[in-house]
Amino acid sequence: MARPFAEEALVLASHNPGKAREIADLLEPFKVAVRSVSEFDLKAPAETGVTFSQNAELKAKTAAEATGLVALADDSGLAVSALAGRPGIRSARWAGPNQDFNSAMHRVHEMMEGHPDDSARFVCALALCWPDGHCETFEGTVEGQIVWPPRGSLGFGYDPIFVPEGHAITFGEMAPEEKHKISHRADAFRKLIDACFVK
Ligand code: IMP
Repeated sequence: MARPFAEEALVLASHNPGKAREIADLLEPFKVAVRSVSEFDLKAPAETGVTFSQNAELKAKTAAEATGLVALADDSGLAVSALAGRPGIRSARWAGPNQDFNSAMHRVHEMMEGHPDDSARFVCALALCWPDGHCETFEGTVEGQIVWPPRGSLGFGYDPIFVPEGHAITFGEMAPEEKHKISHRADAFRKLIDACFVK
């Protein structure tokens, strides 16, 4: 059985404002005080894992040990079939030190050029870790296709080139509340809530 989360607060171990905003929205109904890792002046650890789950646990464990609070971390990315799952866990790194997602999206487009398969998925691992090192970790996905040129200015990262299955618009064109119903993050979040949050 998963360890239940029974605290009044947790620390969100993410320096990415797009992710932090979406996770705060998803946590809103649970009346948990969400503290930001930036309050504690913590540096993000090197993401040395080879899976989304390993990297999410690395980030959450580091934050939980340093703050003494239960920590929630997200590791996520875009896996493109034609690129054998890349950029995958390197999704943020493809945007370089300036986090330039315009150039990262161009890179995806150029590498896919001429390939008949435009399918892709977003993957999100959420790790909830306690200061004693125990973690509960869940992965979520959303399937879709890559489109070009980029469309929409909502969301973040690779949202403007991803059309989720069963929809005609990109995540970049989708209202946040619509994205929250179907996203990889929402899928992982539902699993986490079902397993750990007392209803
Ligand atoms: P990391 O988990 O901090 O290594 O970064 C994950 C990267 O994947 C983000 O910086 C985004 O580029 C991308 N990513 C993850 N989730 C989403 C999403 O919901 N929309 C668009 N891009 C995303």
